[in-house]
Amino acid sequence: MDEIAIGCPYCGETIDILVDSSAGDHEYYEDCSVCCSPILFEVIVDILSGMNVIAKRDDE
Ligand SMILES: [Zn+2]
Repeated sequence: MDEIAIGCPYCGETIDILVDSSAGDHEYYEDCSVCCSPILFEVIVDILSGMNVIAKRDDE
């Protein structure tokens, strides 16, 4: 598991999340620890650039 810091798309606060980079590309929901909104995390594992995590709002 890798811990990364990412900005919440709802409240803008930076939160620390744990991401399983060995799972490959995947999406999952986790509530923001600050505003409790459901954030959709999109995990993209790329051999060259490593792991990218995109935080999206549920309503986008
Ligand atoms: Zn938030």
